[in-house]
Amino acid sequence: MSDVTATAIVEITAPTTWGRASKAGWDKTIGAFLIVAAVPTWCHMNWIALEQYDGSITTAIKAALDEGAVPFAFRHFPQLSIPAMIGYALWLLLQAFFYGYLPGTLCYGQRTPGGHLLTYTANGLLAWAITHVLYIGCSFLGVLDPAIIAKHWEGLLVAVNTYGFVLAILAQWKGYWAPSFPEDRKISGSIIFDFWAGVELNPRFGKYWDFKFFHNGRPGIVAWTLIDLSWAAYQYQRFGYVTSSMMIVTLFHFIYVVDFFYNEDWYTRTIDISHDHFGFMLAWGDTTFLPTLYTLQTQYLARYPTHLTQTQALALLAFGLTGYAIFRSANYERDYVRSKDGKCQIWGKPAKFIRCKYNTSDGKEHNSLLLTSGWWGVSRHANYLADLMQAWAMCATCGFTHFLPWSYFFFMSTLLYHRSLRDEKRCSSKYGKHWDEYCKQVPYRIIPGVF
Ligand code: NDP
Repeated sequence: MSDVTATAIVEITAPTTWGRASKAGWDKTIGAFLIVAAVPTWCHMNWIALEQYDGSITTAIKAALDEGAVPFAFRHFPQLSIPAMIGYALWLLLQAFFYGYLPGTLCYGQRTPGGHLLTYTANGLLAWAITHVLYIGCSFLGVLDPAIIAKHWEGLLVAVNTYGFVLAILAQWKGYWAPSFPEDRKISGSIIFDFWAGVELNPRFGKYWDFKFFHNGRPGIVAWTLIDLSWAAYQYQRFGYVTSSMMIVTLFHFIYVVDFFYNEDWYTRTIDISHDHFGFMLAWGDTTFLPTLYTLQTQYLARYPTHLTQTQALALLAFGLTGYAIFRSANYERDYVRSKDGKCQIWGKPAKFIRCKYNTSDGKEHNSLLLTSGWWGVSRHANYLADLMQAWAMCATCGFTHFLPWSYFFFMSTLLYHRSLRDEKRCSSKYGKHWDEYCKQVPYRIIPGVF
């Protein structure tokens, strides 16, 4: 792109309705129903396979087919545990307390289709640090068994699932009857699709208590690294050692989670917070799916240790850390260039970008820019590719004998590919011909030179 085009303000504006699609036909309804039924089943099958079928998901599925789905579910599904329920309720209250009362930085999200620019208090890093100091400190003092989460995993699975479903139902009810920002709500005409995809974009209690920001970050992502530590302690208690594979995957998860909280301000302008509505996908996904699926590698290694050679360990570390470096710099570049309105350097040269305008449904016009240099000039979602490099390295710590610990990599590949399609559709309706121009200048979607 020439510098002239880069700085030209294009007069044609994009359509005003660039938020999520408003209507859902029978295809989306059936799709939503199948996903809502399938993903909790998948989450439970992983536990059954780990606990009862030597970590083999295929053997567990075969047993379910042989026994019949209903008898299999009655015999093998996790059982309710009152201590786990109480423990999880206390966990939610603790994180809600931290979210509401710890000091933090005030930050701004992305402007919504209804024209709102919401504020958030980013105090997640402090909440994460205090939680971990408490957990590790109490473990050292002998007040807490560090493997407590692992040992109550069955009951916790029931607790998180119950909460995820209840939260999604409440979110849908609130969306219909007491929306925080009615202009940003979507009612699709299908109750099932609304349940899955959400009605409200930013449901809040009062002015500041943000359902989505809290649930997306706190109960699940703070727990992620605690769960890993607990499974590492479980491996130690069971085998008398902690493998390098366990240490490496835990390190990767720590980097990912600390990065998330350190950059919490940036997170308010990502798709989760800016564009996805709060329904089952986020409510159940962040409270249940994330802590159970994203920790599968440590759950697996705690029971079935993998021993890496020194070369393998170093190669995995190098690959995963390279993925992280690209992930961080790509995500940073987008935010940085926008915050400087393009007047900055990327990779040692003046940033290249396309200036564009878009409208919100209150009729107002706003400016934005699409970066075309740095990682955003390599492919349109280089940050997704870098995420997948990390996911691959995390899963590879478990070796190649079972599919189960690789679920995270295959899930992330599907999620990010689908996300890129969704995102590009929305960007195209938001920015119109400027998005077409961006796609022309940066032709590859995710993997440069491939697609
Ligand atoms: P991005 O951070 O990639 O944001 C996409 C948005 O950026 C678009 O909607 C558009 O928004 C804007 N944009 C697109 N192209 C450009 C450009 N060239 N220049 C400037 N802005 C542009 O999306 P995500 O929120 O999906 O991802 C954020 C990170 O989180 C990624 O690294 C991803 O891998 C990771 N992630 C991790 C998940 C996990 O479960 N571990 C799940 C999902 C994501 P606008 O309307 O502002 O123009």
